[in-house]
Amino acid sequence: MSAQMYESFKVNSPNVQYTEEHIISNYTYQTTKIQSVNGELIVEPVDQKYTFKTERKVPKMGVMIVGLCGNNGTTVVGGVIANREGLCWNTKQGLQTPNYFGSVVMSSTIRLGMDDNGRDAYIPLKNLIPMVHPNDIVFGGWDINNSNLAEAMQRAQVFDYDLQVQLIPHMKNITPLPSIYFPDFIAANQKDRANNVLTGTKKEQMEQIRKDIRDFKESNKLDKVIVMWSANTERFSSIVPGVNDNIENLMAAIERSEEEISPSTLFAIASILENTPYINGSPQNTFVPGVIELALQRNVSIGGDDFKTGQTKIKSVLTDYLVSAGIKPVSIVSYNHLGNNDGKNLSAPQQFRSKEITKSNVVDDMIASNNILYKQGEHPDHVIVIKYVPYVGDSKRAMDEYTSQIFMGGHNTIVLHNTCEDSLLAAPIILDLVILAEVANRIQMKSENAEAFTGFHPVLSLLSYLLKAPLVPEKANVVNALFKQRSAIENIFKACIGINPDNNMLLEQRL
Ligand code: NAD
Repeated sequence: MSAQMYESFKVNSPNVQYTEEHIISNYTYQTTKIQSVNGELIVEPVDQKYTFKTERKVPKMGVMIVGLCGNNGTTVVGGVIANREGLCWNTKQGLQTPNYFGSVVMSSTIRLGMDDNGRDAYIPLKNLIPMVHPNDIVFGGWDINNSNLAEAMQRAQVFDYDLQVQLIPHMKNITPLPSIYFPDFIAANQKDRANNVLTGTKKEQMEQIRKDIRDFKESNKLDKVIVMWSANTERFSSIVPGVNDNIENLMAAIERSEEEISPSTLFAIASILENTPYINGSPQNTFVPGVIELALQRNVSIGGDDFKTGQTKIKSVLTDYLVSAGIKPVSIVSYNHLGNNDGKNLSAPQQFRSKEITKSNVVDDMIASNNILYKQGEHPDHVIVIKYVPYVGDSKRAMDEYTSQIFMGGHNTIVLHNTCEDSLLAAPIILDLVILAEVANRIQMKSENAEAFTGFHPVLSLLSYLLKAPLVPEKANVVNALFKQRSAIENIFKACIGINPDNNMLLEQRL
């Protein structure tokens, strides 16, 4: 046997201390500094000492979903209820038990090291440092449609019938709060759904969302709330000087109900003002400059954009593999068709454009990393098509063709066909996003020379693994490559408990 799974562990190191409240780890962060001196590249290994301090107490957490009655919203809530209540259901293949497959937190493992017998020791990622369990999350939120969650879950046609029947009693009493609806931002074909909407000025509607967050927190006795946009994809907002280009202009623009302020931007501002992290699961540019400034000023986490589920996840693996193998992708063509309400909304040109943008940039970092293959500014042809085909419902079809140049002018064409219920991919990602955002808010760091501990930058790039177009702090590099993104999560959590990153050198077994 080459690997062994363990559930728990204890770190034995003079650099790590578990107090009642914190895990404190003294850690050496090893990097490499690069400098160009008189045209020569000077490479210098650097050891920097940090102290990590992680709060051990896991809070009682609530998640408010914007678009609660959508396919994702109902699937995440129904999936958690099924897990929490242990609901099992009959399918034509037999009895199915609930699980959290597809959640990197709940269902993936990480390698801690090697035991005396030369076996790799793995533990669940969720056991590395204390994290919220999804079964304990309290859900609520808003929707422009007034269906209760049982009706909405049935409408979504995602879960097997027998599971739907069992979920109805648990979901029928959950109803969405009225939401902000400005018809211009989502497709006109969504108009019929909009029967649960706020009225009043933009400022009044934003204040109502703030109140909803406070009430939800209080009535459920929660320590923390996270707000997650999983509503329809909006069109991009124009960045207009004097309107949304900085905090003052944005706040003044809300006061005068300026047209270009989108519902999602109002939700983000309301959340930040309530000291509540906000995550954008759709592609639109919610985080206009004024919102980012506000998040920085208030030190409230924001994360986005657009859940990275099927096709893009594979793209950020496959392109990384090809380019790092010295193979040159020259054309990447991605078709999708889907028949759920998301597909219907995306059949409108402006909303499709938002999606096209987030899907387009996902290979940039890999291309830029290799100028043996790509000259400065050179890029593969990259085309994205999405079509609405009602019959296939939530079962999205993705067809991708990767054409690459190989040795001596040869070509290699890889064609993929992926069929998958879209919302069953997105729901565990929603859980990962909120669980990771929460834990990130309990980690503080201090470099050797710093006076005080600080948390992560409010633009929470640690969530990049789960997002198609990762939002990163100004001047930071965007990382799209999936395994680099995963390593960041794993190694930062390992640093919190004073364990070295896995370097895969395996010298123990090579000498
Ligand atoms: P959906 O259409 O089933 O659900 C969206 C819900 O949002 C609907 O119930 C709608 O009534 C509601 N809504 C629209 N505008 C609203 C507003 N202003 N306030 C509150 N509610 C509002 O879509 P879905 O399949 O659940 O996807 C949700 C979002 O997630 C979409 O933008 C989609 O592009 C994005 N996304 C989904 C996936 C996936 O794999 N499922 C992947 C990446 C991104």
